[in-house]
Amino acid sequence: MKSEQKFIQEFDAVVVGAGFSGLYMLHRLRDAGYSVRVFEAADNVGGTWYWNRYPGARCDVESIYYNYTFSEEILNDWNWSSRYAEQPEILSYINFVADKLDLRKDIQFQTRITAAHYDEKAHNWKLQAGKSIIIAKYFIPAIGCLSASNIPNFKGLETFKGEMYHTGRWPHEKVNFSGKRVGVIGTGSSGIQAIPVIAKEAGHLTIFQRTPQYSAPARNHAYDQDVLIQTRENYKEIRQQMYTSMHGVPQTPREISALQDTPEERERVYEEAWNQGGLFTLLYSYSDIGFIPEANETVADFIRTKISSTVKDPEVAQRLMPNYFFGTKRPIIDTDYFETYNRENVKLVDVRATSIQEITPNGLRTSDAEYELDMIVFATGFDAMTGPLFKIDIRGKDGLGLKEKWGGGANLKTYLGLSTAGFPNMFMLTGPQSPSVLSNMMVSIEQHIDWVTDCINYLETNNLQEFEAMPEAEEAWSEQCRATAAMTLLPHADSWYMGANIDGKPRGFLAFAGGVGVYRQICDLVAASEYEGFSKVATSKPLPTELDSTVRQQIEQLKKEVWVMLNLDPQAKVVLQQLEAAGAPPMETLTPEQARASSDFSLLAGAPEEVAKVENRKVPVSGGDIPVRIYTPDGEGPFPVLVYYHGGGWVIGDLDTVDVPCRMLANRANCVVVSVDYRLAPEYKFPTAAEDSYAAVQWVAENAAEINVDTSRIAVGGDSAGGNLAAVTALMAKDKGGPNLAYQLLVYPVTNYSFDTASYTENADGYLLTKNTMVWFWNHYLRNDEDGKNPYASPLRAEDLTGLPPALVITAGFDPLRDEGEAYAARLKEAGVPVEATRYDGMIHGFFWMPGILEQARIVIEQSANALKEAFTTSKSTVK
Ligand SMILES: Cc1cc2nc3c(=O)[nH]c(=O)nc-3n(C[C@H](O)[C@H](O)[C@H](O)COP(=O)(O)OP(=O)(O)OC[C@H]3O[C@@H](n4cnc5c(N)ncnc54)[C@H](O)[C@@H]3O)c2cc1C
Repeated sequence: MKSEQKFIQEFDAVVVGAGFSGLYMLHRLRDAGYSVRVFEAADNVGGTWYWNRYPGARCDVESIYYNYTFSEEILNDWNWSSRYAEQPEILSYINFVADKLDLRKDIQFQTRITAAHYDEKAHNWKLQAGKSIIIAKYFIPAIGCLSASNIPNFKGLETFKGEMYHTGRWPHEKVNFSGKRVGVIGTGSSGIQAIPVIAKEAGHLTIFQRTPQYSAPARNHAYDQDVLIQTRENYKEIRQQMYTSMHGVPQTPREISALQDTPEERERVYEEAWNQGGLFTLLYSYSDIGFIPEANETVADFIRTKISSTVKDPEVAQRLMPNYFFGTKRPIIDTDYFETYNRENVKLVDVRATSIQEITPNGLRTSDAEYELDMIVFATGFDAMTGPLFKIDIRGKDGLGLKEKWGGGANLKTYLGLSTAGFPNMFMLTGPQSPSVLSNMMVSIEQHIDWVTDCINYLETNNLQEFEAMPEAEEAWSEQCRATAAMTLLPHADSWYMGANIDGKPRGFLAFAGGVGVYRQICDLVAASEYEGFSKVATSKPLPTELDSTVRQQIEQLKKEVWVMLNLDPQAKVVLQQLEAAGAPPMETLTPEQARASSDFSLLAGAPEEVAKVENRKVPVSGGDIPVRIYTPDGEGPFPVLVYYHGGGWVIGDLDTVDVPCRMLANRANCVVVSVDYRLAPEYKFPTAAEDSYAAVQWVAENAAEINVDTSRIAVGGDSAGGNLAAVTALMAKDKGGPNLAYQLLVYPVTNYSFDTASYTENADGYLLTKNTMVWFWNHYLRNDEDGKNPYASPLRAEDLTGLPPALVITAGFDPLRDEGEAYAARLKEAGVPVEATRYDGMIHGFFWMPGILEQARIVIEQSANALKEAFTTSKSTVK
């Protein structure tokens, strides 16, 4: 910070930015009695709507929803003229609010904050505002996600003799295009809004397009008075819908897959959405457009057909065709965008094919032509989310810079997108890793500001002077953000959400994609738990008196919920939510037949992949035979073999349950997989399943040549009760003198007839497999309690585990069986058996069956296949 300072001012809070966020933040804090000062680089309020004055600029969320909702009076006093208000009207609205709340007196305009440093001794922030130093306990950047304009660093930029504009820094006076040769670089939202308007006025317009866009007609129109009146009358319900929604608008996706409808019906649905207009209308036509590539393709194709039927020149239409997933960039709505390409005075240049080489004094040169221009309009967007923060020299504890901490964005870490470790008392409004740009920003802005105000009130009431995200909380939140985005198609596009529009910016999804409703719940839960995940340092003033014990207990419970929220894998969370929504009764209330009929996990498994050969056979066991399914991979053989036992508590499950993982294991481990349909309880009680399992291994060894496998490389494996059977088969093989087993793959195995582990207590309910269901399974399986002591039911109780084959033991953090699996791994290790034990922290029981929806399931199958491959190689070399 500069040394020759002139003024020092001190406030409780400093807010940077006087757009929608900064203004509401000022209002809330001032109302709560704090001294606040807002600093704004512009000479007036408005933020986005102050700077983006380009022709055609308007909102993309409907005007009646794109406004403040905190004040009924403000809602009642303002009338929007049209469905998508133009920039001057939105700016007037912001000015109206600033006047009404008398906000300007606490805003210092034309003042850019260049630095903000945390003073660890004084526990406050020092900000550089021109020659002044501003001191405040709380530093609140309300600087917007899209306030750092991006002009690519074109060679020769400074040599251009004509006029140059950026849509995000548009002059206040009218720009005159008439008769001019204009070039627009960029076809994002701003370009698409500006192009039709400029084309009407310019002599000639050349559009330099890097990425073609999906855009749909906005269908803008003047509002009927009735609409405005109805909105006012119902605004509380509408607001509630927006609060709990995905994107902050009072609409939801239709609960039907695009792939369930006939092509004709889909066409009808899309046509209706196209005619209706609206930001999310096409996206909401079906529930899976944002998630399933094939579903997405149906709407993408529909829009491409619209482009080709609108644009008369087929070559131009072709160049305008997007080929990435629809909705992976913020949807765009337009007024006559594609129609503009039918004008005589408009030319489209594809700068992907012929890149821009340089700006010349008279225009622009691409790799194959020179374009003479009088004006260049840069519609090249913004360095989004992190860009505005990095423009300020923000330093936290130990002088660490924010940009440095986040590795320029490559190592983005926040807790809830509001706070980052090492930067106490700093609250980022609509910052990275919050829903912000994926939503109606007004909903996200109000939610953040209400949360921050409550938080500051809490800190002040409790005499806390330092409040900061904990590193482990931000680790967990950042992983939540990554995994949530990975469930969608969003990370598949080269979008500004990914930082892909800025040369050299690290790629990574910048927002929280779980929706504003879920996000609000999480933030509220954190607040209710007295800000679990944040560390707090008290002042020397005495703390308020102790809370009563019931309240304390409630808070402790909420803290646990926050911990679960942060640590349970977000994809697993979605599975649990879906299963809960499906409303299936607890398994233990069903008969075994009902339980079997209702346990279909095939949708979660995903599509079965091809395996060179799949054969169903029967294997003799005592008193009959049982089905097996043999998967043989590509190649000559003889192959190593995995004998696999499905899970299902010995009561449910069959060959189809594990068809997908068995195929994946066969292909990846390059081994034959023999999946065994052992006989189920209660029809066949203990020890039938165990004996069937052992008989299957014997059969494999005896028929090795026929099924093209190598007897020196036999492994057993299974999940849950199947993991129990695999472990028991290994014990039996040892006890009975063969066959010789090379490996055991034990996926969250049942190893002990006992329910007294910590994981049974922690995960008794709520994570798919419950304690009660496990009790029900055991009761069906065992003839009596005595059976439970038998090591062939409870391998953990076996006295001697020496000499057993090497093992991979997989466990899941949110599984009642976690601890008994890990106890078995520990016992094996003690007995000198080589063991690899891996806990998948955020996972639930059953995840091995769900590679279609869970990233971690694909990873665990990959890990298992690698371990098998390695074991088979080792055992082969040992035999040699
Ligand atoms: C063209 C365009 C259209 C949009 N349309 C929509 C829409 O329809 N719906 C929607 O939900 N969202 C839309 N957005 C997103 C929009 O940015 C938000 O809706 C909202 O206006 C953001 O308000 P804000 O106050 O958080 O940030 P901003 O409006 O960006 O305000 C931030 C302010 O901070 C100031 N500032 C930044 N850094 C400093 C500094 N170091 N010192 C001092 N001052 C600083 C800037 O000058 C700016 O005035 C649009 C964005 C653009 C660019």
